[in-house]
Amino acid sequence: MAKKVLVLEDESSIRGFIVINLTRAGYEVIEAESGEQALEKLKVHPDVRVALLDIMLPGIDGFEVCRRIRATNTRIGIIMLTARSQEMDKVTGLMTGADDYVTKPFSPAELTARVDALFRRAGGAAPEQVGEICQEPFLLNTRNRTLEKNGQRVKLTQVEYSIMRMFMENPGKALSREEILDVVWGRDYFGEVKIVDVNIRRLRLKIEDNAQNPTYINTVWGYGYKWGF
Ligand code: CA
Repeated sequence: MAKKVLVLEDESSIRGFIVINLTRAGYEVIEAESGEQALEKLKVHPDVRVALLDIMLPGIDGFEVCRRIRATNTRIGIIMLTARSQEMDKVTGLMTGADDYVTKPFSPAELTARVDALFRRAGGAAPEQVGEICQEPFLLNTRNRTLEKNGQRVKLTQVEYSIMRMFMENPGKALSREEILDVVWGRDYFGEVKIVDVNIRRLRLKIEDNAQNPTYINTVWGYGYKWGF
């Protein structure tokens, strides 16, 4: 099966660099130079499993593209391409539904490692036969990779699902941010531990009754998080 990745980048030299390296790594790359074009191409190629989205674009920006993709697709892995000066943009990007970000300029090895890591998670693994983990009011279905709260489906990205699963498999245990990073993002991940915090902030908005005063995902100051039952 083709390993399809979408690359949205308006600067042709950067896009070319990404395409060459991902092709070399065994991916089939779908290219887009505008957000509008990226959304069109995703309709034509619904089997794209990872999308790399530049932020600064001539038409709609990368955040908006991310938002529109996420409105209908929670399975696809999304990596934002940010410039070094756009520190805040990383957080904004993750809050709009991205799973990860890569800061320009990046090395081919770093880029490929990030895409590989997301690709494995974004439906790349074989379906599991374990079944369900039930901790009222939550029900995690590990076969369909879905979460319900009080019988209502909570739409999660693959990263959010993996974090929820780690929590629900370790109730009451303090998990360090590094541990979460290792399990969810993989040991070969290059990124910063801060990405854990941003994903958890987003997850809280989805699963807590009041994200400002979380009762399920508790912060363990200076260490990490605890699934609080
Ligand atoms: Ca750009």
